[in-house]
Amino acid sequence: MAFLLHALLCIRSPHSYSQVLGFFSPCWGPDAKTTAFLLCRTAAYGLGTTAEKRSTLACHARSRGGRARHYVFALPHTDRPSRLATASRGSAAYPSVTAFTSLFSHFLSRGVDQSCRRASPGQQPLCSAMKVYLTFDVEIWCNGWDDLDGRFRSSLERYVYGRSRHGDYALPKTLEILDGNGLTGVFFVEPMFAARFGLEHLATIVGLIQPSGHDIQLHLHPEWTDEIRPLVFPGAIRKRQHLSHYTLAEQCTLIALGRKLLADAGAKIATAFRAGSFAANADTYRALNICGIRTDSSLNAVHPDSGLDLRGGIDFFHPVEIDNTLVLPMTVFRDGTGRLRPAQVGACSFAEIRMALESAAAIGVEHFVMLSHNFEMLKPDRSAPDAIVVRRFQNLCAYLAANRGRYQVSTLGEQPQITSQGAGTALPHAGLLATLERHGEQALRRVFARSRT
Ligand SMILES: [Zn+2]
Repeated sequence: MAFLLHALLCIRSPHSYSQVLGFFSPCWGPDAKTTAFLLCRTAAYGLGTTAEKRSTLACHARSRGGRARHYVFALPHTDRPSRLATASRGSAAYPSVTAFTSLFSHFLSRGVDQSCRRASPGQQPLCSAMKVYLTFDVEIWCNGWDDLDGRFRSSLERYVYGRSRHGDYALPKTLEILDGNGLTGVFFVEPMFAARFGLEHLATIVGLIQPSGHDIQLHLHPEWTDEIRPLVFPGAIRKRQHLSHYTLAEQCTLIALGRKLLADAGAKIATAFRAGSFAANADTYRALNICGIRTDSSLNAVHPDSGLDLRGGIDFFHPVEIDNTLVLPMTVFRDGTGRLRPAQVGACSFAEIRMALESAAAIGVEHFVMLSHNFEMLKPDRSAPDAIVVRRFQNLCAYLAANRGRYQVSTLGEQPQITSQGAGTALPHAGLLATLERHGEQALRRVFARSRT
């Protein structure tokens, strides 16, 4: 079947194969009889809105004995059948695709398995793509708490734009690389600074991120709390760094305030949360439950401030439910020396990340949570690009884009589903050479950190 489809694309399409490939790219499934096809709506074909151009409609076809029997359609970025209809209309001008759109319609009428697990009882899973979350903690700092008003403007420029003579390497470059690879990120945006300096600055951040379909969720650094006037609660006069330093009632107030600030700045209602410095505690999950936030990514097994009163009782390595909130912990893997390492762009070589991804997929990990920041491609304390981290991120995005059949880059707009019991499962791992590569890169970064570009 795959060969027929290839032939059809080559012979009947008015475009070159490479052009068509961008629109309708086939990839191989887990066995010789299984073929997966990814239908990518791209700007070149004039389909849909800007947000929809970034959407990927994936069709997974299982073929037996040369005849396709079972089909599953996965809609990674949307669950609205209307978008499928849009795709059908848009592709009607291309004869080679028309056959497939009618196929989509046929199976759409029979129901879409959006969870991409099983076509019907008794069958094997047709799609085993691991969900990968490219999460970015977006925050603004003023290099201390003195002279905030004097420092804020330059801090805003650095943390939002990261301007340099090479380009804008904070949010603009991050978004450019994601968009260029057709990937969607999860941006945990810290809004509390806006209660001090004005909502328009937060609206600027939302305006950069949200229009192209990326996810905006709530990140909270309560260090800002005592800078806000009037005080949000009587005890706010004292600076306390971590969310775990606040009472349950205070955490509820802060989470509600952060969510409102994001909404007032134009963001969709946040449905997921990450505590600043991963410093959530048991009260944080009670507060999230009260506030109605059902998804969280605040646990990090290798961060010393994360979940201190939950240690020993909660699995920090696999998805877990706490007080009606689904927690997707930061993914941690074993590096080439056996040490635990967070899957963070600035803290791993690309080879380590790639091997950790491959290893995670191989052992059946369902959700792989990666971390970066709005300033992670910048050199410390300067608005100049860190070429090594930039290259890592470019390589990572290109790798994920080239392996869509294996990795489903996802958002948290809809609550993830957990189908496997992760506890006890081995951790992903990377090889020694990959870790040595990181050590070499980090040494180079230290050498070049002071160099002027
Ligand atoms: Zn943070």
